[in-house]
Amino acid sequence: GAGRKRNKGAVPQFSFDQIGGQEHAKQELMEALDFLIRHEDIKKFGIRPIKGILLTGPPGTGKTLMAKAAAHYTNSVFVATSGSEFVEMYVGVGAGRVRELFKEARTRAQKENKESAIIFIDEIDVIGGKREGGQQREYDQTLNQLLTEMDGIYSSETPRILLIAATNRKEMLDSALLRPGRFDRHIQVDLPDKKGRKHILELHAKNKPLHEDVDLDKIAEESYGFSGAQLESVMNEAAIYALRENLTKIEQRHLSMGIDKVMMGEKTDREATI
Ligand code: ATP
Repeated sequence: GAGRKRNKGAVPQFSFDQIGGQEHAKQELMEALDFLIRHEDIKKFGIRPIKGILLTGPPGTGKTLMAKAAAHYTNSVFVATSGSEFVEMYVGVGAGRVRELFKEARTRAQKENKESAIIFIDEIDVIGGKREGGQQREYDQTLNQLLTEMDGIYSSETPRILLIAATNRKEMLDSALLRPGRFDRHIQVDLPDKKGRKHILELHAKNKPLHEDVDLDKIAEESYGFSGAQLESVMNEAAIYALRENLTKIEQRHLSMGIDKVMMGEKTDREATI
């Protein structure tokens, strides 16, 4: 996730080829981003600019990475935050933060001399949940402010602003957010298939010494259902096991142990929440 730290706001040094698997999602996202790049043509054809892209899918599948790569691809400054950062006890504070966020994106782009800015909001469901009237008045104001800011994005303005939001609970979102001119492009970021898992493992093995007995194809097979974040953990745990044994290389069994460790960890997490 984006975490609590606000990104400094430069163009990220992170590209689509550093994301494993997700071929379909990457393709769809790049196609949408081409609209941001070809804004002159878009204008000539009278096409409505894309203001918001919603990334949906389970945790740890690389939604934050996709947003970062999107900023890299379009040479945009990147301002990242999370829905939970807008949750405040006092009425109006959340709405004020939304205003600040857009302001920050615009000033950042100017400072860095960039024509576009991408604002990434992780866990959009926290502020963009269905409005049910009554109880959640503070959230309503925050959400209303977000809608107002989105409606105030114009393609003719520089910097051009694009919002990318992520959620793993799309069905919870208020319908106002999903209307045309808002988050009307949805891209599903799924758990990786075997090929995707292998690709992710390879990417995370790049800076690690692997023994020649290592067969990542087999590890990809054994890690069915794992997310990218979990695969990253498998690699990391395997390295820790190898180091503990004072070896110079990671062996296949360390990776298998890594899989078990990550699986066990998940189980204990789940049991703890029940
Ligand atoms: P969340 O919904 O929990 O915020 P997310 O979908 O935004 O998760 P990321 O934060 O992008 O997931 O991914 C977490 C970490 O997992 C990344 O920093 C990376 O190390 C690893 N990871 C996840 N997906 C991939 C992938 N497709 N390729 C390479 N690494 C990945």
